[in-house]
Amino acid sequence: MNRLQEKAQGLKQGLYLHVPFCARQCDFCNFYQRPPSRAEVQEFIQGIADELDSEPPPATVDTMFWGGGTPGLLSPTDLRSLAESVLSRLAKPPAEWTIEMAPATVNQEKIKTLLELGVTRFSMGVQSFQEPLLERLGRVHSLSRIYKAYEILRQCGADNINLDLIFAIPGQSLQLWEQDLAEAIRLGPEHISTYCLTFEEDTALWLRLRKGEIEATAPADEADYYLQTWAQLEAADYAQYEVSNFARPGKACQHNLDTWAMQEWAGYGPSASGQQGQLRYTRAHSLEEWLAGLKAGKPAYADTVDLSPGILATDALIFGLRCNRGVNLDAWAKRFDMTGTALASQLNTFITSLTEDGLAKRNGSLIQLTREGRLLADRIGVEILELSS
Ligand code: SF4
Repeated sequence: MNRLQEKAQGLKQGLYLHVPFCARQCDFCNFYQRPPSRAEVQEFIQGIADELDSEPPPATVDTMFWGGGTPGLLSPTDLRSLAESVLSRLAKPPAEWTIEMAPATVNQEKIKTLLELGVTRFSMGVQSFQEPLLERLGRVHSLSRIYKAYEILRQCGADNINLDLIFAIPGQSLQLWEQDLAEAIRLGPEHISTYCLTFEEDTALWLRLRKGEIEATAPADEADYYLQTWAQLEAADYAQYEVSNFARPGKACQHNLDTWAMQEWAGYGPSASGQQGQLRYTRAHSLEEWLAGLKAGKPAYADTVDLSPGILATDALIFGLRCNRGVNLDAWAKRFDMTGTALASQLNTFITSLTEDGLAKRNGSLIQLTREGRLLADRIGVEILELSS
């Protein structure tokens, strides 16, 4: 056992499970997913059981996240068998268990089943409260479906709900975005995530952009959306804890915080990513390839990275700085054996330049981005990556 693995024993453990089915592809999304057939769902559920057998999760998992795809597309019976398959291999249910639900898939039976099984947190992809913008994004749900789904979640007793919203959608104005935020606040979920629309290659939206049928929001204007979001949510007592994430006290998503802090998590299912010991991996994207790997007893990966302390240190800094709590540089240097290294000294110089430019503030060994710095978090991340390569 090397030193990094020894230290890994003290790390938080997460479990991510990817459900690769969606009713149809949204126009902005390039995640791997497909419309489910009965036979494929059964193969997937059996595949997860096989994968858990061949690569068991740690006995104690602090957090679990089921994403996709649309996990909520599965029937209550299928959700139950999938959950039992995972839970039977854990010493106890995780303290936080999030499942992503598309509004169109929410019904009482499903939510009651999930709560009974131990789900603690529901994340719903609302994206917008404006019907024309939902259509532009190619979402299958209508506005009324969003309200119905939210009502069902609350009626069934869900007490930790996240709503995902998207801004900088072609055709959206800052005023419409303010209205979306106001509507989310009025509903009163415990958590709100806000994402700036990106045009992923080969998506329907990207093709329309290429053909000149729609216009992207100018990067300079995107800052106005961020600032509006931060001001409006803060005024409504949603504390920002990461560039895109806001929560009522005690309701931040622990699974994501642990991931950004470079703790460990096991990933199951097609295209799931994981990070354990010295390996970071993404499993094969397609259901066929993933199943074939399982049948052959040889897990199929789309990508693997041998982790070094340098990679982990860099990523912990990049993702840590995106969080409002920032990074304690002394603890960071100790954890990743960075004390006195050339990389630590380069990063220290870079961080000093950030503080001089008003993009970060330093309090002893704690470094946090300022509001201006958070606006440039992506660029700062790229610069840190360049320094370390
Ligand atoms: S955005 Fe969500 S629901 Fe839409 S295609 Fe992507 S994974 Fe499926």
